[in-house]
Amino acid sequence: MISENKSLKNFNTMKVDVNAKNFFIVKDVNQLDDIFKHYTFNNVLAIGGGSNIVFTKDFEGLVIKNEIMGIDILFEDNDFVIIKAGAGVNWHEFVLFSIKNNWAGIENLSLIPGTVGAAPVQNIGAYGQEVQDVIISVDAYDFSTFQSITFSNFECQFSYRKSIFKQKKKNNFIITSVTFELKKHFKPNLSYPAIKNALNKKNITHPTLKQLSDTVIEVRQSKLPDYLTLSNCGSFFTNPYLDKAKFDSFINKYQDAPYFSFHNGYKLSAGWLIEQAGWRGKRIGNVGCYDKHALVIVNYGGATGKEIFNFSEMIRKSVYEKFGVTLEYEVNIL
Ligand SMILES: Cc1cc2nc3c(=O)[nH]c(=O)nc-3n(C[C@H](O)[C@H](O)[C@H](O)COP(=O)(O)OP(=O)(O)OC[C@H]3O[C@@H](n4cnc5c(N)ncnc54)[C@H](O)[C@@H]3O)c2cc1C
Repeated sequence: MISENKSLKNFNTMKVDVNAKNFFIVKDVNQLDDIFKHYTFNNVLAIGGGSNIVFTKDFEGLVIKNEIMGIDILFEDNDFVIIKAGAGVNWHEFVLFSIKNNWAGIENLSLIPGTVGAAPVQNIGAYGQEVQDVIISVDAYDFSTFQSITFSNFECQFSYRKSIFKQKKKNNFIITSVTFELKKHFKPNLSYPAIKNALNKKNITHPTLKQLSDTVIEVRQSKLPDYLTLSNCGSFFTNPYLDKAKFDSFINKYQDAPYFSFHNGYKLSAGWLIEQAGWRGKRIGNVGCYDKHALVIVNYGGATGKEIFNFSEMIRKSVYEKFGVTLEYEVNIL
């Protein structure tokens, strides 16, 4: 049943209180045909866990919350397993399911909030792994043609925190399921010092899949606020990319700045830039920059989406004024 004027406060981890003109929880792909063949909406938004969205106003259209469940094994041999998961499956539960079965490929993505269906949207990534490396295809329902369509990995146009679903085809589709290929032979990705150091402290040099996942969870819990107790939506901005010429002039001036090479250029740490601009731990009204991680903006309670957005714009402005570097939003501002 479609509800009207539904509060979205409990459907976004920033706990912003706005209304959706219409709201529907989808549990089965066939329900989408029923809705779109009978009603017309000028604006449709698919959501999962609401952990990467900041609503700055009421949504004057239909919000569809995805609760399409199910995990099916489509194929398996000695080396690989192909699994199709419903878009509404909780991402971390899916990771735990893979760990329990000893299937590798998403262990470094443990504890990322949200749903399987949102994972391809921004090509979720953490600690050296990105979901694009294990996705075979994405099934989606097109709001304009009322047809289901399958995107191959190539057609998803994945890049750093981006895909076709966050760019060219933003809000044109609801992803209904995702097909993954996971490996049965595990080679740990320890490229991130934070993970390697945490394992070293436990005297583990060759972690099992479970040990690696547990360590990722511990590191995340020590750095990031739990959105259930302190409302947030993770990293607010992406790490900015500079081509070689711009990077050379930047690093000449700021020799302490952390960076890593990326696609013929370099990525800077957005968290470092924000911290250097003096924002870490700063609070204005009910909005603040988290004291343990400057890339995270938190709602201490009761902040509106506009207040959160204005706070984030102040951060962007001061980073630009100090470093001449533009921060791009990782979160979806609506
Ligand atoms: C504490 C914290 C830590 C985080 N850490 C990370 C991290 O390490 N790495 C990382 O990449 N992200 C991270 N995130 C961001 C977030 O968890 C991911 O982007 C996640 O994939 C969002 O899932 P969701 O279901 O909550 O999506 P939502 O917030 O509901 O939606 C996000 C976007 O995807 C679209 N969308 C959602 N579901 C669908 C669907 N079924 N079909 C089509 N479009 C859809 C929405 O329209 C929106 O544009 C973090 C967030 C928090 C709160």
